[in-house]
Amino acid sequence: MGNRILKQMLLASIIIAWTALSALAGESKDGGHKRTGKAVHWGYSGAQGPGHWGDLSDRYALCKTGQQQSPIDIGETQQSGLAAFTVDYRTTPLQVVNNGHTIQANYAAGSTLTLGRRVYQLAQFHFHSPSENLLNGKQFDMEIHFVHKDQAGRLGVLGVFVEKGAANPALAEIWRHLPQGAQGKMAPQGVAINGADLLPPDRRYYRFVGSLTTPPCSEGVQWHVLKQPITASTEQIDAFLHLIGPNNRPVQKINNRLLIDSQTVTDGKP
Ligand SMILES: [Zn+2]
Repeated sequence: MGNRILKQMLLASIIIAWTALSALAGESKDGGHKRTGKAVHWGYSGAQGPGHWGDLSDRYALCKTGQQQSPIDIGETQQSGLAAFTVDYRTTPLQVVNNGHTIQANYAAGSTLTLGRRVYQLAQFHFHSPSENLLNGKQFDMEIHFVHKDQAGRLGVLGVFVEKGAANPALAEIWRHLPQGAQGKMAPQGVAINGADLLPPDRRYYRFVGSLTTPPCSEGVQWHVLKQPITASTEQIDAFLHLIGPNNRPVQKINNRLLIDSQTVTDGKP
């Protein structure tokens, strides 16, 4: 094969790889994607608000047509045995991203949530204010979503409610490094955090199947929402709202979903 042909083939594969990478970057950057070469923006109010997500792009159709969407108002649950989960979150170098929709802390590989035989790797956690899921109609001041993926690529989210109260030291460490501008990123040298510091001591939870609460609203997400809230100060919650604004999708219909309550586990613990 001639040298020139080889060079052309190499160039072609670089272009293909670059195009694929750009598409991925466009999607992860702002939750939008390129349908006509222009990113589809979405938000929490007005013409790009949650009620319109399903119309903004064909790829967001599930936001409108899905039958197992999140968040929900967690109300009456079916009685059912439910295994406790094990959280093994390691300390990770702090890497905070302001993606314009939320504040997200990215997580290094090696931290897991294990439920039965399913092992999920923690990828990131992020914040919503006010809370997205409700508990018997009650909305909390904030909700943290720990986003995990298992080996088959299935998503598992651990939700933690936050209510106003004592200032939260773990949150304070992250809030000290909040990127002010959208698409801003902070990775301060020598600062580490542990997501486990944002979990309540009581690990009883609700479980149900749902979706991503942001476009494209993909379904098949395993939700685990802890019953016991943690606290954050009014100042801490206000700091988030000042930077991001309210970023909760309204509750969706439960339809034929099973809500399972870990309360009924009979392992000797309450
Ligand atoms: Zn979320």
